[in-house]
Amino acid sequence: MAEIKKQPRVKKEKPQKVFQAPRGMHDIFGPDTALFEELRMAATACAGSYGYQYIELPVIEDRDLFVRSVGTGTDIVDKEMYTLKTQGGDMLALRPEFTAGIVRAYMQNGMQNLPQPVKLWAWGPAFRHDNPQAGRYRQFWQADFEFFGADHPIADAEAIQLAVKLAESYGITDVCVYVNSIGCTECRGNYRKALKTYYRSKSRKLCPDCKRRLSTNALRLLDCKNEQCVLIKKEAPETTEYLCKNCSDHFKKVLTFLDEAKIGYFLDPYLVRGLDYYNRTVFELKSARQSGRNESTVEGDQAPQAEQKEPLSFGGGGRYDYLMKMLGGPDTPAVGFALGVDRMVELARDEKLKNAKPEPNVYLVQIGDAARMEALRLIEELRAAGIKLFFDLSRDSLKAQLRSADREQSVYALIIGQKEVLDQEVIVRDMQTGIQESIPYAKLVEAMKARMKQKTKAK
Ligand code: AMP
Repeated sequence: MAEIKKQPRVKKEKPQKVFQAPRGMHDIFGPDTALFEELRMAATACAGSYGYQYIELPVIEDRDLFVRSVGTGTDIVDKEMYTLKTQGGDMLALRPEFTAGIVRAYMQNGMQNLPQPVKLWAWGPAFRHDNPQAGRYRQFWQADFEFFGADHPIADAEAIQLAVKLAESYGITDVCVYVNSIGCTECRGNYRKALKTYYRSKSRKLCPDCKRRLSTNALRLLDCKNEQCVLIKKEAPETTEYLCKNCSDHFKKVLTFLDEAKIGYFLDPYLVRGLDYYNRTVFELKSARQSGRNESTVEGDQAPQAEQKEPLSFGGGGRYDYLMKMLGGPDTPAVGFALGVDRMVELARDEKLKNAKPEPNVYLVQIGDAARMEALRLIEELRAAGIKLFFDLSRDSLKAQLRSADREQSVYALIIGQKEVLDQEVIVRDMQTGIQESIPYAKLVEAMKARMKQKTKAK
């Protein structure tokens, strides 16, 4: 009988794990890199003109800082915070927003001892474990501006003006400002009571979240995006009917200053914002295109009635006079806002890419090892002169390198071969006309600086 040989067992290889960015988080690369950078430059310029100092903060803070400021009963704290426990047992959270961190930094670094007001701005990622969808990410970037030590209504108008002008300077020219006042703690107490009475009479029709909000945090009922709840909101009492005289006067002054500054706005009596620390003025910015508005803004107009799907705002903020004291600091009035960088880039992307012209650049072509060595030296000289360069020193073929120069839309190719190394010169080829000339090494940088200046002017 033939012996049956046992086949060696072939070890099954585990399929390689395909790594992906965490859900709701995205890479920023390609043309978007320049769009992000451009917005950061616009923010830096506007912050400078309005007297804001830049502050860099940790991405992680004490979890309780957000619980106590943003508030329990808000979606951010109840559902969306990324929290972690350190080995030492500290409870920390990835920042879901910037304001609380900036207030913490103001107190910790004794900024109350500086001449007031103090204006701080920051830029960076924030994290919210929300349902990812278009324009809603789990890691997103914000440009954040906080203005401490000014209780005058002009400060509110100034903050709104800065937000609008920054967006405009970036190229979002159809900004709609939605503004409201939610009053002081006293006005808000009365309003909350009226809101509860109204919503209790509708409680059977509310979504499960809103049923819960009715007993935990009634103001949050107005943030609900559920279609049925949006309809119910239409008949709800309005915040402005419950403002005390001081808060009402403050709000009227803010609106007068906006009128004077020719900043258009819509009054939205149901705008309360999704965080608990606000008082008095609150505002959001949307694009007219998204809001279904065909004119940019109308002064003092009523906000459009809730449509099927409310457009996402690209910025929002307001006054928060109680927050610093609530967190254990000195009584300090404050107003601020955050702009959503990802959403602003999305709004401006099509228009910017349509009009985008690459920055004039030069392609360095080398053939042979001797030329390669010269190339390394030349790259440094050209970099020091501020010339934007592309090259691939591992390539040999002239044709392939010139093709790359075409792809990069380079205005000149600088070519060094064996002969050029011997003669100590470089061939400068105009990529548009194909005209070539030889320039000695010693004169190359100056000659290229002059040529690039001309090309930049012609751009
Ligand atoms: P908020 O802190 O919620 O007032 O948000 C301020 C701005 O940040 C919003 O107007 C958005 O532009 C942006 N933002 C907030 N949450 C997200 C998110 N999940 N994804 C992208 N942008 C966001």
